[in-house]
Order: sequence, then structure tokens, then C-alpha cells
Amino acid sequence: MSRFYLTTAIDYVNSRPHLGTAYEKITADVIARYKRLCGVRTHFVMGNDEHSQNVYRRAREQGLEPLAYCDQMEREFRDVWARLNVSFDDFIRTTEDRHRAGVSAMVQRIADRGDLYDAFYEGSYCVSCEAFKPEKDLVDGLCPVHGTKPEWIKEKNHFFRLSKYRDALLEHYDRHPEFLLPDVRRNEILRLLEAGLDDISISRAGQLWGVPLPFDQSSVVYVWFDALINYASAVGYGRDEAAFREWWPADLHIIGKDITRFHCVIWPAMLMSAGLPLPGQVFGHGFVYFKGQKMSKSLGTVLDPLDAAAKFGPDPLRLYLVKEIPYGQDGDFSWERFEERYNVDLANNLGNLVNRLAAMTDRYRQGSLPPSPGAPGRLAGVAEDVVRRYRAAMETYALHEAAFAVFGLVDAANEYIAETEPWTLSRQGNQERLTQVLSDVVEAVRIAAVLLLPVMPASCAEILRRMGEDRAADELRLDRDAAWSGARERVITKGDPLWPRLETAAAVTDEAASRPEEKTMTDQPAARPPVTADAPPAPPAAAEGLAAPPAPPAAAVPTDERIPIDDFVKIDLRVAKILAAEKVKGSRKLIKMQVDAGAEPRTLVAGIAEAYEPDALVGRSVVIVANLKPAKLMGIESNGMVLAASPEGGLPVLLGFDNPPPPGSRVK
Ligand SMILES: [Zn+2]
Repeated sequence: MSRFYLTTAIDYVNSRPHLGTAYEKITADVIARYKRLCGVRTHFVMGNDEHSQNVYRRAREQGLEPLAYCDQMEREFRDVWARLNVSFDDFIRTTEDRHRAGVSAMVQRIADRGDLYDAFYEGSYCVSCEAFKPEKDLVDGLCPVHGTKPEWIKEKNHFFRLSKYRDALLEHYDRHPEFLLPDVRRNEILRLLEAGLDDISISRAGQLWGVPLPFDQSSVVYVWFDALINYASAVGYGRDEAAFREWWPADLHIIGKDITRFHCVIWPAMLMSAGLPLPGQVFGHGFVYFKGQKMSKSLGTVLDPLDAAAKFGPDPLRLYLVKEIPYGQDGDFSWERFEERYNVDLANNLGNLVNRLAAMTDRYRQGSLPPSPGAPGRLAGVAEDVVRRYRAAMETYALHEAAFAVFGLVDAANEYIAETEPWTLSRQGNQERLTQVLSDVVEAVRIAAVLLLPVMPASCAEILRRMGEDRAADELRLDRDAAWSGARERVITKGDPLWPRLETAAAVTDEAASRPEEKTMTDQPAARPPVTADAPPAPPAAAEGLAAPPAPPAAAVPTDERIPIDDFVKIDLRVAKILAAEKVKGSRKLIKMQVDAGAEPRTLVAGIAEAYEPDALVGRSVVIVANLKPAKLMGIESNGMVLAASPEGGLPVLLGFDNPPPPGSRVK
């Protein structure tokens, strides 16, 4: 049986976890959960780096013994990781005996190999960096990172012959181009190796806080040399040979891009010297910058993105970090963007789909679907393609692409409901077809939830429960359970909305009142609450169709903005049938279409590409403003405007008809 050992960097405990550290742990957790979903025996290790002079100082400032301070911080770290649902298998602290045993053993082995020698170190040391600073790296004599004056150190140190391993490292990179990802990081390290390596000091003299060198009790092992060994000591190095043989080498080290030199030069050289195999892969992720601007009404007093987990559960934050930031690159977190994605992906899209489906199954089938009666519709093909793309992305750690692919299946399921109109099938008494359509959508939602389990474990387990899955999430396997299957009876359960919509900072009515001149037919205030199972009874087409969101209550339009009927009749609204549609190249939102509005076919451009596939539009009847002056969009002349509802923060929804009248019919 295959196995997978992955680690994250261990964290200094001189401050609480922040968004950046959380990003690393969450993305590593997604990979660990994906491997488990694939049935791979997985060992996921995180931990704390405690032998830092900063930690020692911080403890003393607080009047604590260093170890007591570290105990306290461990509780804080574990609490944050639990709140973010990070599922590590083991948590190592560098002050633990098992780690100290591993450090002593490896340092001794490197010494026995003849790779250590004594020399005087004289130079600068930045305590905040915990690093020796060559003169050439200082700016006006100060640490370029901290702007502080490094300590001048003159002491007898033990040096590691790092320079000896340069050629072996270059050869390793040559033979294993996948060793360091993404490529941009590998190129940085190759430049470094080609420039040549200096030997490094691996000890600090006269210090108490650390692991003493086995052959020189007056010195402790340099904190970085000490910390790197955690990856081996966590699985028994120097203490439990059987466990070590089982898990070493690690398959994947996940680290920040700022510490690749330690993990991709020093650590492999240490392992070579100790005669141990190298880890399979190192992935250097980017940084997440927090732009802590404007707070919204719904977030209230939440200041720290990590606190968003307390308010919404961990999953919306996890999804945001995974889906919105290409893994390996830098990204931003902002409250504005977080709310927008929450509303679009979760409240309006996935959450709304789960609720509508449960409501329809309840209304038309009393919540129970028999095994699907016939061949599945086109959603089965979409699901198969999405699973393939998801797997390919996850295997190369393109986590964002994997998450994005799954939302393609969610979109397709929403479109399928709009296309097949279950409420019409019910009215027509087309029972078999109705059962088939509902079964297909349940199957698509079920598969989407299986695929998103690594990213949103708690919410997806709940979605699966509502879709009639009675096994625990950790019993599910990608091969078997992400395959299309209509062969089972399913009992669908209704529930509260998983993700209630957030009202964003600029409330809809405020916005409309303050910008009346910008009002158009497509961005009128028409906030549509997600359709929930316990929504008041409404005509089926309005409650479940994408076609007809309820009009805003009259009170939402200030009385002084009312218009006479003469103004309204100036607008020539017509039924138009879509003859052809294609995406506008270079635009995410625009679709170009040919429509028949009763006269010559005309070209229109509409901002609906995020909500509709061009192919699904052809043949459909919509409402257009036919007497609008032509406008150019991305160089294409648009003759008229397609009407769509624009839910706040959501995707546009086209207006349509139960029984389309002939093209050109007047709408009034
Ligand atoms: Zn520094």
C-alpha cells in the first residue's frame, strides 16, 4: 500500500499564528486530506520551533521559564489549528526528548563522517533572523530584514562542510527536476549553487537554550540546523529505527518561499552527509498579504482573518485561500474580496443549489429518489471531465485549479436545472423524466461534495449527509465515490442554509440612492435571498427557476424616483431568440451573440459568460432592450441589451419564458 509523508515548516513560537502561517497549514492539510481520500496511508506532521533565542528572550520578558512559555504557546497554536480544522497526525516540538535524540544522533553522524571542523567565527549575527550575516548582506551595517544592528560575535564554532556537497546537489537537481517546485524557486537555488557554497557554522557557544552538541557540551546546535532535523526525528530518527524506515524519506516538505535555501541546500546536504535518502519534493508556496481595509456590517468586529473561522466556520476561509490564490504564487486577502467570493461561490452557488435541490425533491418526491430510471443526462459527462481535471491538478499541487474545476460542476448543475425546468416537468406530469433530472442533479452535487472534502471538510460532510450519504467522510474514496452512479435510492434531507448571504458594506438601497444616475436595467436593486427550503410558497417558476426572481418590494424604490408610464413605453422591450453565442476573446464576462428579435438578426454583447456556457444559450428566448443606441464592447458593436437579474454579489440570471412567444413579440 502506498504511503505519503508530508510536513510543513515548524513555527517560531514568539508570536501567535497569523494568516501567513495559517495559509501554509491549510494548504498542506488540503493535500493530506486529498491523499487520504485517494486511499493513501498518510502521515502529516506539523510542529513548533522552540530553540530560538527570541523565544528565550520573550519568555524572560514575561517572567516565565522558557519551557513554560513554550507550553503555553503550544496550546495557542493547537487551538488555532483545531479551529481551522487542520488534521495533522503528529505535532512535534523541538524541546521534546524524541527530537533532541534525533538532533544528537544526526550531528554525531555528520561529525563521524568528517564533515565538521572547528574554526573561529567572527562576524555579525542577527538574533531576530537567527542567522549569521555576511558583511555584504548588511545595509549601512544593519540587518536588511529587521533594520537592527546585528550582534558582533567572536567565538569558536563547529562548521559544516557545506561546500563539499555543491556538486552532489547540482547533480541531484539535474536528475530530479521535480525536487523543488514551483520552477521559479528551483531556478533561484540553481543560481545559488552555481555561484558556490560557503561552509556554515552550526553551533553557538556559551548558550543554554538548545540541544548541546554531543561532543561539546559548552555549545548548542544552531537553531536552524536543529529545526530541520525535526522532519526526521518526528518519525523516529535516532530513537525508533523501525518507524523511521517506515516513513523516511518524506514525500513532501511544504515551506514558505523565503526559506528554500535552508530546505533545498542545507537540509539535503545534511542528509547526504548523514547517509540518508533525500525527501521526494519541496514545495515553496508564496505569501498572502492581508489588506485589512474596510470592515463590513456582517463581519462586525472581526479584525483578524483567522477570526472569520469563528464566525463562519473554517470552510469559507479555507476555500478562499485555496481557490483564489494560485498555489506557489503570492496572493491577497481582503475582506471585500472574501465577502464577494463567499456570496458568489457559497451563498448563491453551491449553498443555493443544495437548498433548491432538497426543496424540489421534498416537494415533488417527498424527499426520496428511487434508483435513477434511465440513462443519465449530460451532467454525467461534465462530472467525469471535472473529476479528471481535478485529479490532474491535485497531483501537481495546483490546488486552485482543482477547486475551480469543481465549481464548474456546480455551475453545470445549476444550468441543468434551468434547462430542464423540473417545475415544468412536474406540471406536465412527466414523472419519469422529473425523477431522472433530480437524480442527475443529486449525483452531480454529491460528486462535487466528495471532490471538495479536502478543502471544506465539515461543510462537504454535511452536504453529503443531506444527499443521502450514510458513510462517514473518511470512509469515502475518490476512485469509487467520485464515479457517477445512479444505481442507489437516495433520501434527501432538508436543512438550514449552509452559508447565509452576507450583506456587504455598501447596502443595496444605499447604493441605489446615492448613484441614481448609474442605474440601468440590469443593475437595479433586486437582491434575491437564496431560495431555501422553508421559503414561503411561491409559484414554482419563481421559487425554483432561474428565470424569474421576485421583483424588489415597492418600498425599495424611493417614491421620488417613480416615473410616468410615458417614460417606460419609450423602452422597446422585445422577445429575442438566441441563434448563436460565443465567448468574447480576452474577456472573462462577455458573450457575443446573434439574436432574432423579429427583424434582421442582430449582434449583442452581454456580460453573462461567468453564468452561462455559450452552447447552452443557443435556442433560448430572452428579453432585450431593442431600441438602445449601439455601444462598442471589446471592439464589438452591440445592438441592444439582454435583460438579466443581477443578484447582489451573485451571477446574472437571464429573464426567460415558460412557453417562449415568437421572436419580436413586444414585452410590456
Ligand atoms: Zn534580521
